Amino acid sequence: MILVVLENQRGNIHAFSQEAVVAGQQLSEKLGLDLSILCLGENASSLRDQASDYKAKNLILAQHDIINTYSADGYSKALSQIVSELSPKYVLMGHSYMVRDFLPRVSAKLDIPFVSDIIAVEYDGDSPIFSRQVFNAKLATKVKTTSDTVLLSFQSAAFSSDDMQIGGSENQSDFSVNLEASDIKSDSEAEFQESASGVDLTTAELIVSVGRGIESQDNLPLVESLASAMGAEIASSRPVVDMGWLPPYRQIGSSGQAVSPKLYLSVGISGAIQHVVGMKGSKTIMAINKDEDAPIFEIADYAIIGDLMEIVPKLTEEIQK
Ligand SMILES: Cc1cc2nc3c(=O)[nH]c(=O)nc-3n(C[C@H](O)[C@H](O)[C@H](O)COP(=O)(O)OP(=O)(O)OC[C@H]3O[C@@H](n4cnc5c(N)ncnc54)[C@H](O)[C@@H]3O)c2cc1C
Repeated sequence: MILVVLENQRGNIHAFSQEAVVAGQQLSEKLGLDLSILCLGENASSLRDQASDYKAKNLILAQHDIINTYSADGYSKALSQIVSELSPKYVLMGHSYMVRDFLPRVSAKLDIPFVSDIIAVEYDGDSPIFSRQVFNAKLATKVKTTSDTVLLSFQSAAFSSDDMQIGGSENQSDFSVNLEASDIKSDSEAEFQESASGVDLTTAELIVSVGRGIESQDNLPLVESLASAMGAEIASSRPVVDMGWLPPYRQIGSSGQAVSPKLYLSVGISGAIQHVVGMKGSKTIMAINKDEDAPIFEIADYAIIGDLMEIVPKLTEEIQK
């Protein structure tokens, strides 16, 4: 069995979980294993309703008063029980903040491996090989597992929710977890939000991202006007944040956020690997840069070569029209 665990994000199935379901559907087809989707803890019955269309063999609900709100202790104990009982070959989740918090505890409790932050899956015959980045995304390793059960988490945009197979589940069931108040030894703080202002770049459909090519904070209104004309969120490369021109939650890259919008418009960004790992999953990438050899053009779908100080105002004017 392949077990995908859904995560609640402010009342909805987390975007990363939808991608994990797609990963699960593809693994299940390739390996001939049944796919089960688990709605665990917080908001679980609503998640089950929302997932009722997803093509799977089983849709499982696991609820308990003690995990009605997230805690690493409660979730790790509940999932450990479910994994011990069902013995899935693979347990899949998106690589979210919550998963980073509690899934290593499941790995430790059950003494099973956790392959985290996977960016791609390939196959050697029937054996999946998982790619993950190391050394600050400068190298990729390939991991083959031999354990009976393995925990996996997938980097945002490793799979696309556009590839979700619809068709519903054949069976629905409840799993009764055994928890007591004394199992919870630590309190979790309020859910981490990517931004204090409520901006969640991970779910933005349009992003205008600005780099050091903007030269000075005084020029930022140029890109802000463009973003506002497009109805897009503003993001940036690290130097812009380091210089204090934009707040840290706007930073994209290996030490910032990973995003996968429909359109990522990069303005004056060179395309260093540490930036690219955070946005390469975008559906369409458009880049403005005056250097025709800038690395960003290697991954851009559309290249605009020229001075952003001239191009951005013209683009804004055209979009406003
Ligand atoms: C451990 C570590 C972690 C890092 N994490 C991150 C991260 O999370 N995110 C991140 O972004 N970076 C990160 N970096 C930094 C990264 O290596 C790059 O230095 C950074 O991404 C470069 O930002 P930039 O492209 O804005 O600036 P630059 O590399 O200086 O590029 C500016 C670009 O603007 C172009 N340009 C200049 N003027 C104009 C103009 N008038 N019109 C058009 N184009 C123009 C130039 O041709 C150039 O390509 C990290 C580095 C390290 C070592």
